[in-house]
Amino acid sequence: MYGTAVYSGKRETMMPPRAGTARALPPWAPALQQAMAGHPGEAIVWHGSLAGYTTFKVGGRAEAIVFPRGRDELSGLVRRLHELAVPWVILGRGSNVVIADEGLRGVVIVLGREFAAIELLEDAGDSVLVRVEAGCSLVKLVNWAVERGYAGLEFAAGIPGSVGGAIVMNAGAWQREMKDVLERVGIMDSRGVIAASDIDAMRFAYRTWGAEQGSIALEGFVRLTKDTPARLREICSDYRQRRRQRQPQNMASGGSFFKNPPGGRTAGQLIDQAGLKGRTVGGAMVSPVHANFIVNTGNATAGDIIELMGIVQQAVQERYGIILEPEVKILGRP
Ligand SMILES: Cc1cc2nc3c(=O)[nH]c(=O)nc-3n(C[C@H](O)[C@H](O)[C@H](O)COP(=O)(O)OP(=O)(O)OC[C@H]3O[C@@H](n4cnc5c(N)ncnc54)[C@H](O)[C@@H]3O)c2cc1C
Repeated sequence: MYGTAVYSGKRETMMPPRAGTARALPPWAPALQQAMAGHPGEAIVWHGSLAGYTTFKVGGRAEAIVFPRGRDELSGLVRRLHELAVPWVILGRGSNVVIADEGLRGVVIVLGREFAAIELLEDAGDSVLVRVEAGCSLVKLVNWAVERGYAGLEFAAGIPGSVGGAIVMNAGAWQREMKDVLERVGIMDSRGVIAASDIDAMRFAYRTWGAEQGSIALEGFVRLTKDTPARLREICSDYRQRRRQRQPQNMASGGSFFKNPPGGRTAGQLIDQAGLKGRTVGGAMVSPVHANFIVNTGNATAGDIIELMGIVQQAVQERYGIILEPEVKILGRP
């Protein structure tokens, strides 16, 4: 009754399975189809490969990748998945995840262009309030603000990913982070109920938004001040330039792999001083340019990256007694 499809490498394209690649659909497939009823054919990709959805370019398949069209559909979907006890996870632009080679059980939800609006809500003279949806790319938001002379997001110039991912990860650079510009966040809970929460009532901290497991960041309300586009362009271009000088270029990665531990020395300094730059496992390597970047040199598996992560953690712990905690989220690890 339900056609099987394989992900072809392009998000929009579904192809019939090649001989030998057909996989049985999970028992909850009819219920999922029903939850997405009325949606044009490409709403669900069965057994789709996730590697193309991540900047590390590794990872196995999800039982289903789902592209809801709007809030109502998303809300109905997570409610149904909750009832069915099917595990699910939201994926933004995959720039801070390693997905296990074995793939993910359950459903991966991708918030696409139906969740990508940017809207000027209020102009208070010296500041503006902007509403931006989770599926919008952070790069697009930064450019949008800069071109209008709205200041505050320059720190994010060059950080890849979606606005939703940036909120959830409390993404930051140059001593600034998302929580500094957010006034409130629109959140959907794991039963599909939507509410807005003031930043002060939330538990944002270093690289986390502190919300309950299973919460979805739907939109952010961002307070920005005013400046000239020319000055903001200059600041952003300086930040991008510094990134180019300090970070590996044209290498698949998830950005900084470990959180900086308390105590002053950065994760990159500890890894470098432990002599680990250039260390490899399979196709994964500790970048010789920036020691806190693990890069995929071309043919890495998630297993290579995770094994290298363990080697780095062990070496730093043995040498300095410090346990490095990954900033990158490992999804689907047994
Ligand atoms: C080259 C490079 C440079 C980087 N530089 C920086 C940097 O300077 N500073 C920095 O902080 N990060 C940096 N990163 C990491 C990454 O870009 C950020 O963490 C980014 O905000 C992640 O967004 P994403 O959409 O890709 O999230 P994903 O990687 O897709 O997801 C990250 C986590 O958030 C969850 N998630 C995503 N969207 C939602 C949502 N809407 N609701 C609920 N959960 C969600 C996912 O389930 C996952 O657990 C860098 C990455 C790369 C590859």
